[in-house]
Amino acid sequence: MSTVTGVTGVTVRAPAKVNLQLFVGPLRDDGYHDLVNVFQSVSVYDEVTVSPAERLRVTVHGDDGIGTRAVPRDRTNLAAEAVAILAARTGRPPNVEISIRKRIPVAGGMAGGSADAAAALVACDELWQTGLGDRELGDLGARLGSDVPFMLMGGTAVGYGRGELLEPLAGPERFHWVFVRAETGLSTAEVYQAHSRSRASAGGGAALPPGPTTGLTHALVRGDARRLGAELKNDLHPTVFKLRPELEHLLGLGQEVAAAGAVVSGTGPTCAFLASSEEHADIMRRHLSQITGSERVLVAHGPVPGIERVPP
Ligand code: ATP
Repeated sequence: MSTVTGVTGVTVRAPAKVNLQLFVGPLRDDGYHDLVNVFQSVSVYDEVTVSPAERLRVTVHGDDGIGTRAVPRDRTNLAAEAVAILAARTGRPPNVEISIRKRIPVAGGMAGGSADAAAALVACDELWQTGLGDRELGDLGARLGSDVPFMLMGGTAVGYGRGELLEPLAGPERFHWVFVRAETGLSTAEVYQAHSRSRASAGGGAALPPGPTTGLTHALVRGDARRLGAELKNDLHPTVFKLRPELEHLLGLGQEVAAAGAVVSGTGPTCAFLASSEEHADIMRRHLSQITGSERVLVAHGPVPGIERVPP
């Protein structure tokens, strides 16, 4: 346990995610699409501290450049929702201060809100010593959002259903990524709604594959970045490019920097460029920084573990 201004608190860090493959199936009756969604956690971290307080409070710190100003400071913050759901489940008042240090771009397709929700669940579970197991935390997480169960688990995994039914994927190797974030975020709901509309006007939904491609699973096991790069796939590309035409051009810069592959992460607008080595990632970082400005470029590696305690 760490001491935060004289009060005992728990601090954890939560990684962002990139989507290696995102296949979007037909719209379900509950308004969600069935997905085959391959996630990888990457080393861009939000840090979340929970400490006892007289009432539920949220503070958020971070660079305005990543959109921190748009993060709610009330009970609609996903971390606060996580605390409330855990408090209700364990029959106690949700009286904690949640302090969030944002580094994951907001509304960037890297699941920053879900990361904070997963972080708050784990931190409060530890603070309150609830004794709930991983499985029950995962179930609570799924109620908060489709990506939260993966954010709890980390590594590389495929999510079925809305993305919450997870199967880990073997892949001990480390991959190196360069991310270019956009100046303004994109709403996940807006992207999926636009996608549904264009599917409907094109005469219905495409069939969902049974799982990730074989090429992807082989590339992960062998640590083959070039092969993995060729397997990156996102069914939302046409919709995202319609909403943000400049992203198609940005992704095309992948060829200029000899990226192994390039893909929009999830609903975007962050673009992910896969490097063939750590050195290559650094070359890509410098080149892309010259084009877009260094403040928009992030270097990271993955897979990394899910939520981890930060030692006091
Ligand atoms: P995903 O990749 O899961 O689609 P995202 O990365 O595109 O999500 P988030 O950063 O999770 O998007 O934020 C989406 C919206 O959720 C924000 O615009 C903000 O209003 C709201 N939000 C609520 N809680 C948080 C939080 N802790 N951090 C960031 N955004 C939050």
